[in-house]
Amino acid sequence: MRIGAHVDPTDPLAEATARAADAVQFFLSDPQGWKSPQPRADAAALIGSDVDVYVHAPYVINVATGNNRIRIPSRKLLLAHAKAAAAIGAKGLVVHGGHVNAGDDPSTGFDNWRKALSYAAESGGFGLPVLIENTAGGENACARRLDALARLWDALGDQEVGFCLDTCHAHAGGEELLGLVDRVKAITGRIDLVHANNSKDGFGSGRDRHDNLSSGTIDPDLLLAVIRAADAPVIVETPGGVEGQGNDIAFLRRQLDGETGAR
Ligand SMILES: [Zn+2]
Repeated sequence: MRIGAHVDPTDPLAEATARAADAVQFFLSDPQGWKSPQPRADAAALIGSDVDVYVHAPYVINVATGNNRIRIPSRKLLLAHAKAAAAIGAKGLVVHGGHVNAGDDPSTGFDNWRKALSYAAESGGFGLPVLIENTAGGENACARRLDALARLWDALGDQEVGFCLDTCHAHAGGEELLGLVDRVKAITGRIDLVHANNSKDGFGSGRDRHDNLSSGTIDPDLLLAVIRAADAPVIVETPGGVEGQGNDIAFLRRQLDGETGAR
């Protein structure tokens, strides 16, 4: 099982070494901004590295919204990040499921997702798997609760898209972790990546505050059960930098070792 962390984008491979990580995830631009990603000087090193690379799209992207002035730039920015992520050999681009505004028909959000994928396909394709991530908050989210996720996947039809399961978001979003992987896979058929995070907040709180794996409100054994069942690469997006994330990665290796034959 490949295990890594979300790291600062300046020198991801050094961050991986510092954490003994098999994988890294990082942003290609300010996650709160609309800037296009720039070519990276370390592209060849990232492509040639044994470390698996994942890219997280900016948080501002919301391809589901009914607001044209957000939705249209979101489509373009998602495609630009996908192409930039593919150019550094990334295995996937993670993007949040997005939401419609209060009062808007949720079905328009699912349909806008379908249109965003069609736009990308007509523009030469993403060039790598795009992984829709479940989110923690909001009453109009496309990928917070599984009933919405099922409607989203229905709307996407046979368009190719992957799924990233965040354990903090599921718990805070109000989905029980027990048996969650089976319930997700019944909808998506796949889990491409797990974001393994504990939660500072309670079940169904709708708040998105990650905690280290052995802290927080989720029983660590339940986190481990989700990770085992998902059988996908794992990224921790936990606090504490090299020490905090390094401890979380070591914890996972200790707990999962022997089952996977990992180092
Ligand atoms: Zn996440």
